[in-house]
Amino acid sequence: MKYCPQCGSPLLRLELSGRVRPACPDAKCGFVHWNNPIPVVAAIVEHADEVCLVRNVGWPAHWYGLVTGFLESGEMPEEAVVREVEEELGLVGRLESYIGMYEFYRANQLLIAYHVSVDSHDVETCKHEIADHKWVPIATVQPWTAGTGRALRDWLAARGIEREMVDFDRVSN
Ligand SMILES: [Zn+2]
Repeated sequence: MKYCPQCGSPLLRLELSGRVRPACPDAKCGFVHWNNPIPVVAAIVEHADEVCLVRNVGWPAHWYGLVTGFLESGEMPEEAVVREVEEELGLVGRLESYIGMYEFYRANQLLIAYHVSVDSHDVETCKHEIADHKWVPIATVQPWTAGTGRALRDWLAARGIEREMVDFDRVSN
């Protein structure tokens, strides 16, 4: 961001609240690009000792991750995560537990992860968002080195399964 979206002045880099941030030099305008992280919900979708991993549209062929999505206006994270599971997988989700919050600095997101169970393996993915899915046994699923992978590692650890995270490009789920 080079120019102020409110008044068009070239932005300066000013130290504000302990960090250097792009900010408008016009005191009457006062725009600051705070770049606050965006909350994103993530679901470990589980049925019959397997978890459902999805490949989002546009991802490389070997990338599979958790179901994720943005909150709608006025929605709480626990509502959003069940809605996202239903929209992306076409299955009714049941909220089981909160897992944790994870920073995903690269995308400027705050991940809020939950365990959501479903009653079937018969996924009907939303073709606009999901290119593919796979069911992976909990006995073998490998967590990966990203925010959602840390959520999976912690969820496994809470079940007494200690498993190392594998580089996202080398994981073989
Ligand atoms: Zn301005």
